[in-house]
Amino acid sequence: MKKIGIIGAMELEVEELKAKMELRSTIEKASMEFMEGTLNHTEVVIVRSGIGKVNAALCTQILCDVFQVSHIINTGVAGALKNEIDIGDIVISTDALHHDVDVRVFGYPLGEVPQIGRLSFPADEHLIEIASSTCRKVNPDIQVYEGRIVSGDQFISEKQIKENIINRFQGFCVEMEGASIAHAAFLNHVPFVIIRAISDKADDSAEMDYPTFEKAAAAHSAALVEHMLPLI
Ligand code: SAH
Repeated sequence: MKKIGIIGAMELEVEELKAKMELRSTIEKASMEFMEGTLNHTEVVIVRSGIGKVNAALCTQILCDVFQVSHIINTGVAGALKNEIDIGDIVISTDALHHDVDVRVFGYPLGEVPQIGRLSFPADEHLIEIASSTCRKVNPDIQVYEGRIVSGDQFISEKQIKENIINRFQGFCVEMEGASIAHAAFLNHVPFVIIRAISDKADDSAEMDYPTFEKAAAAHSAALVEHMLPLI
């Protein structure tokens, strides 16, 4: 049966979806509230994971084990890594990787977790396609990009650090959860996609831009998730 796990790191990334869902039950696990019910005629479990890779990985595993979700969607905000990607625009993951993993001393490329045999975790083609086509309908005023999303336990707000990440990983945007959700979903053989709306440019302006734009950006991403659900 189709059951979609929807993860947002922060409340503002999932609050609209929670408000719109028909709630059947709420279960607390690992200090997270998993809300089960239907949204836009689709079975869903919506949860705020908390910020960062550990919270997001734990949350993903619980969605797989306890709720046996068929698909996972991560919705939220991120910092842009390309000049042409503006605040408010959306990035849909082709794949995701950890930009803060470094085991180069034993011959692994920067970003690769040893003994997994891959640098990045590929998102599900069908979910990418639906997200992309739905975005053009739901958010016609903004641009939608498909590309790599990179994650680490750092808020990126310095030009030099941003440049290093761009040169090393060719990411489209940077955030703090996507790769760990992708990683956990990959290990559990559950198809996933990460959808992020841009809240800032991950440079010296990010400290100012992020608080100004996070709410509107989060709403773009959530609207897209809501509308793509029946197509999955
Ligand atoms: N406002 C929060 C902290 C936000 S941390 C508080 O005070 O509690 C930033 C969140 O937005 C993370 O969940 C991350 O995934 C995303 N994000 C947006 N822009 C980012 C950037 N430039 N670098 C890293 N993460 C970013």
